[in-house]
Amino acid sequence: MTEASSPQIRSNPAPASHAFKATGVLGSMVLLAALLGIWARPMGFLSVVWPANALLLGTLLHRPAWLRPGPMLAAFVGYVCADLMTGSRPEVAVLLSAANMAGVGAAWLFMHRRSHLVLFMQRQTSALLLFTGSGLAALVASAIGGPVLTVVFQTPPWQAFSMWLSSEWLNYMIVLPPMLAWPTRRLQRSPAAPQLPLLLRAIPLLLVVVLEIVSYWLGGPGALAFSMPALLWCALSYRVFTLTLITSALCLSKMLAISLGSFEFTPAHFLESVSFRIGLCMLVLGPLAVASAHAARAELLRQLRHAVNHDVLTDVLARGAFLSQGQRLLDRCAHDRQPMAVLMLDLDHFKQVNDSYGHAVGDQLLRSFGLMLTQVLRPQDLVGRMGGEEFAVLLPQVDRITAQKIARRINQATRELELPQAPDSMPTTVSIGMLHVGALQSLQRLDLLLQQADQALYAAKSRGRDRYETRLWSGPETPALQP
Ligand code: GH3
Ligand code: MG
Ligand code: MG
Repeated sequence: MTEASSPQIRSNPAPASHAFKATGVLGSMVLLAALLGIWARPMGFLSVVWPANALLLGTLLHRPAWLRPGPMLAAFVGYVCADLMTGSRPEVAVLLSAANMAGVGAAWLFMHRRSHLVLFMQRQTSALLLFTGSGLAALVASAIGGPVLTVVFQTPPWQAFSMWLSSEWLNYMIVLPPMLAWPTRRLQRSPAAPQLPLLLRAIPLLLVVVLEIVSYWLGGPGALAFSMPALLWCALSYRVFTLTLITSALCLSKMLAISLGSFEFTPAHFLESVSFRIGLCMLVLGPLAVASAHAARAELLRQLRHAVNHDVLTDVLARGAFLSQGQRLLDRCAHDRQPMAVLMLDLDHFKQVNDSYGHAVGDQLLRSFGLMLTQVLRPQDLVGRMGGEEFAVLLPQVDRITAQKIARRINQATRELELPQAPDSMPTTVSIGMLHVGALQSLQRLDLLLQQADQALYAAKSRGRDRYETRLWSGPETPALQP
């Protein structure tokens, strides 16, 4: 790996403390993971579990700035030390470590330039990238490491190569998915879907456990695939990260169960071992592909729903969504006998803004006004653009004094709006008509309340603009105008 292939690193050099941290973390992580792998290795042959390479690759994909000579040397020393501590000859330790790092390097080169969403398991092609990247890493490592095994342990070349390839591939398919799907702030994730009770949510997972138990009990060549339908159900029910934890745990438990009894990971049974590992890789790949495609589809649906419900220019609720969501909020307030306020807002002399400064400035004012509203209001309040330069706001659970305070705050914040392209003389004021409802006695239609707020808005316009007027709700027929 050369510096030239990583412009990100050259243009944004990491501070010394970062490099120090990266060196410490990578060196100790590789050392510990390699010791764990060696400890799990049957005498004289490849490890059952070898997490070091996938951990190193996953860390570098999350932190590309750590790919520097110091941290890489630390990782290499970590591999070599683990081998030396467990009795390897120095030249063998160096060659095997070089094979491991070459595999990691090859996969990093292949994977690191993909978009974050593809790389971190949120797109249709994510599972394919994971599968091919892992395969490439395993191929490069086994092409270098296989001959070393042949020379050192006298393993026939084809056996050494295929055992290393299959075990390495499987190790990547176990360790890498949870690392890549790890929830980070860099990825915009869809908000969680409405949650079912815990027991119902756990059913797909419980089914995996049940089918696994049946597969161990019944045994035979088909037992590998027993849990596939339950895994696919998990892929459609859980987040990608949760699914990766399930598939990894399932692989580990299968490997553990098999290595404890019915099957040996030794060259004597190498064909069965290779076939079993490849089968396990495929078992993991299917649900991962479904889960990442499902995540991509869910994100597209979320974007589509947002586009349908929100105004393109201001990103506040569009008229239809405001009316339907507002009606639900109104019904809730009426049901709980809670007070609420309905505001109609209309920018003053907006036509003049368009005529004097151009439509683009008018659009900019609308955008800034919408943004300001969302900043001034509370999270539970509802804001919608009703059309043109007219907006509506719903304030649940507010008394009249608080609602008037909020209206004053909106008036003030509108006066203080600053638009980069507009001169200071441009009028940015708003008139507000407010209807305050103390406690609804029965369910009411939102559009009728908005009509009354609109009448208060009319009063605010005729009384000089840049102000608010309040009406108190006293039934559909007799709204009282507040002096
Ligand atoms: P008043 O103070 O009485 O409300 O006067 P006004 O000029 O704000 O009201 P009027 O209804 O006369 O003008 C509204 C203008 O808003 C007319 C229309 O061209 C403009 N408008 C409507 N939608 C948009 C939009 O999306 N972008 C821009 N830039 N202008 C818009
Ligand atoms: Mg208007
Ligand atoms: Mg207007």
